[in-house]
Amino acid sequence: MRPKAAAAGTAEPTEGQEVFSPDGTITRVSISKRVKRAASTDAEAAAAEVTALQNTGPSASRFDMVIVGDGYTASQTGLLRQHAQAKWNEIAATAPWNKYRQLINVWLVNARSNESGVDNDPSPGINRDTALDMRFFCGGLERLLCVDEPKAKAYAAQAPGVDAILAVGNTTKYGGAGAPSLASVSGGNAQSGRIAIHELGHSVGGLADEYFTPGTTYRGGEPREPNVTTDPRGAKWASFLGLNTPDGGVIGAYEGGHQFERGIYRPSQDSLMRNINKPFNLIGLTAMERAISSRIS
Ligand SMILES: [Zn+2]
Repeated sequence: MRPKAAAAGTAEPTEGQEVFSPDGTITRVSISKRVKRAASTDAEAAAAEVTALQNTGPSASRFDMVIVGDGYTASQTGLLRQHAQAKWNEIAATAPWNKYRQLINVWLVNARSNESGVDNDPSPGINRDTALDMRFFCGGLERLLCVDEPKAKAYAAQAPGVDAILAVGNTTKYGGAGAPSLASVSGGNAQSGRIAIHELGHSVGGLADEYFTPGTTYRGGEPREPNVTTDPRGAKWASFLGLNTPDGGVIGAYEGGHQFERGIYRPSQDSLMRNINKPFNLIGLTAMERAISSRIS
């Protein structure tokens, strides 16, 4: 018999989690993996109705964006569709998604919930019986909107194709969260779509963060992500150096990124991977274009 992983006095396994502010800034906190994952040990998903917000062609030759809803009851299908459409409209208006808008399928998976809303909204202690168990105050952080990831993925898998997953919760409170392969956001909050756009930078574009935690120094090797480097001259993006970038200024090598203040460099001062109210920089745009277009033929 194996000893329990977290004996008294030993730290529980944690994982970094991004927390977003309406002003666009991002911070990172560690929360318990147990708290974040919560809920399901199985990844069962009831059969759900799948509809298209837009169907532009066969999934084999299209990028498939899958939106799953949580906290929408059987009588709130219209509201789910309205929230999902608003989020997609916002993503699709942002470069480089706007360039591929007509070549992307957007599927809506109607995971029906027994109760309307999400947990801990607006305050802790409010529990609702919903399909994906979305909840604010995840890990004690008010705006961190966690979701049962295995369940969200199991529902998303019912769509004809899956290249990205967005979970929308039935709430107007600002918040969201990112996971390696999906993002969660408030369905009814106009500002929260920016969170999804940042998270898609990670999950689709393979981009690193460009913000940092003050007082930290990077000591690892050259990161695989295209938008951070240990090289203070920025040779990784040599062909872009000195070019104007949509987030302002020119491409260079600015110290701080990948969540570290020192010892690592990012391509521009203030891109979307650093502040969610900004556009991608040229390096991010290029990575996103490559990733999206690679799934389209
Ligand atoms: Zn991030």
